[in-house]
Amino acid sequence: MRPPYLLLDIDGVLIPFPGADGSIPSTHSRHEVVPTGRSADNPVTVWLDPAHSPMLMDVIRTGLVTPVWCTSWRQDAATLIGPLLGLPPLPHIDLPRPQITTSHPKGYLWKRDHVDAWLGNAPAVWIDDDFTSLDHTWAAERTVKGTATLLVQPDPHLGLQAEHLTEVTTWVSQSPAARASDD
Ligand SMILES: [Mg+2]
Repeated sequence: MRPPYLLLDIDGVLIPFPGADGSIPSTHSRHEVVPTGRSADNPVTVWLDPAHSPMLMDVIRTGLVTPVWCTSWRQDAATLIGPLLGLPPLPHIDLPRPQITTSHPKGYLWKRDHVDAWLGNAPAVWIDDDFTSLDHTWAAERTVKGTATLLVQPDPHLGLQAEHLTEVTTWVSQSPAARASDD
């Protein structure tokens, strides 16, 4: 059996949201990137924590999960953000660009329908800062039906913490999918 997917968001997870006063955690360093479709003289400032690189690589190297970007950065996750953290090129879910004014147009995270279709019956742990209670219900129902699903939800102003990845590795080592891959 394949290892569970590790779906990884960027905004609010690797790039924290500024505080009300515009502050960014002191752990993060400033970078400028030019997303696809944007002109080179109009870069976007991003803040990244160099400590995330070894933290994520420790999880990726276990081979217990299959990491995939799941972010509105789309392919730029692998070409712009990943390299700044020293991460290997990872695949991404090719999310659409819906014309929405909220990230929860149906009461749950807009990515979820696409993720649900993309995953099929595959187990997954999904790290995103923007789940609603309906997403947590979706994950619980998926798990009850035999497809292990874990949502991990960092505080968007703090982003990914070591304990979130500990939660991932603990869950994966206990999940039926991971145990089956040991057989
Ligand atoms: Mg996010």
